[in-house]
Amino acid sequence: RFLSIEGGEGAGKSTQAARLAEAIEARGVPVVVTREPGGSEGAEAIRALLMQGDVARWSAHGEALLFAAARADHVEKRIRPALESGSWVICDRFIDSTRAYQGAQGIDDAAILALHGFGSKGLLPDRTFLLTLPRNVGEARLAARGAANDRFETRDGTFHGSVAAIFDRIADTEPDRVRRIDAERAPEAVTATLIAELRDLLP
Ligand code: C5P
Repeated sequence: RFLSIEGGEGAGKSTQAARLAEAIEARGVPVVVTREPGGSEGAEAIRALLMQGDVARWSAHGEALLFAAARADHVEKRIRPALESGSWVICDRFIDSTRAYQGAQGIDDAAILALHGFGSKGLLPDRTFLLTLPRNVGEARLAARGAANDRFETRDGTFHGSVAAIFDRIADTEPDRVRRIDAERAPEAVTATLIAELRDLLP
């Protein structure tokens, strides 16, 4: 099974990916945890390109293509082989992050999905968890951990509002795949909810 974890910065995506992997492995299923942008050698090289420089380094279309290229490499080299070998895969951000962040930059959702069709044969997670929390709580968590400085940090509240709105719209239109999870709670409580939301998929 293929799972993705989505949401804004400071929502606890990587923490939950690790905790969820542990819980699934305890049931005897091997799990590969990975993240985007990155997750394979080629995709990590693109990540390095994407993270450097000024926020306006790339045109919005160029940036959308870079994310799609990174994902295509990640899917072909890492995610599909892991799934084919019988592992579960948990990905920290996937296509919905591109729909939200590049969508907030004005790239059309249908165009993003078309690129995903070409690059990654349209691979979609069996289940996606959208970790939600108020933006100021996420910001406080980032500040507390002295988050890495990347060029995306200078984006403003309006931008992040658009990102959150697109994530919400995706969750509303694809309720079977995408489950909204209140991420303001303690990590243990969030993980318990994720497991409960996987009842129908877990062995
Ligand atoms: O997941 P993480 O916080 O490491 O993501 C790094 C940065 O990349 C984030 O600040 C996010 O805003 C940005 N990003 C993006 N478009 C994506 C995925 C991530 O702008 N498709």
